[in-house]
Amino acid sequence: MQEYCKSVMTARKHTLRGQVDRADGEREFFATLREHPTKPAVKRVETVLTLMVEADTLAREQREQKRLFERSGKDWHRHKPLMESLHASTRTWKLLNEALLPYSWVPLAEGGIGRFGIIERPVTTSPAQWAYWERMSVGTLLRLARKPGELSRLRRCSECLQWFHAIKGHQQFCGVSCRRRHTAQDSEFKDKRAAYMRERRIDEKEEEAQSKRQAARVLSE
Ligand SMILES: [Zn+2]
Repeated sequence: MQEYCKSVMTARKHTLRGQVDRADGEREFFATLREHPTKPAVKRVETVLTLMVEADTLAREQREQKRLFERSGKDWHRHKPLMESLHASTRTWKLLNEALLPYSWVPLAEGGIGRFGIIERPVTTSPAQWAYWERMSVGTLLRLARKPGELSRLRRCSECLQWFHAIKGHQQFCGVSCRRRHTAQDSEFKDKRAAYMRERRIDEKEEEAQSKRQAARVLSE
């Protein structure tokens, strides 16, 4: 019990700090995922995150498809790809529910002068740093999942594959360095392809000229 109280106290301190700078908290969360990928607690949180984002992505794709069907006046109820996508959703929800099963929450009264509220607090019996981090992180993810559109902001960087929180709707990279690296590779790839195409055109011309010469020889024989 004493340990539980201690963790609630730290939770309060964290909440306050979180309110002061939410962006800092998010950076810290993603930095932890990046820096300690092999910690079991981090792996479990990443599973929850991956499944949540997957379920959200599937739902968004389905909404878009449904909207297109409705616009064209077609019936989507028997559309096979859409039904398959729904099955994929069901599988993801099942896995997510299993992943969320170990976490429990208790309502907690808190307040200050002129302020009172009931909040949800994670129950943790372990005073260990990672157990605490795990509960808080899952709590953050659950809060994000309840806010419409928030999960679509949690993405994997197209370059380094690390998780990040997108500020802009179309953002693909976790930061400037990954975007630059990707652009550089992209232009290097384009240069290489252009060179390859040039070579091929020269080869083709050479082949064409050769076959013409051959044909001319055959004709003249
Ligand atoms: Zn990146």
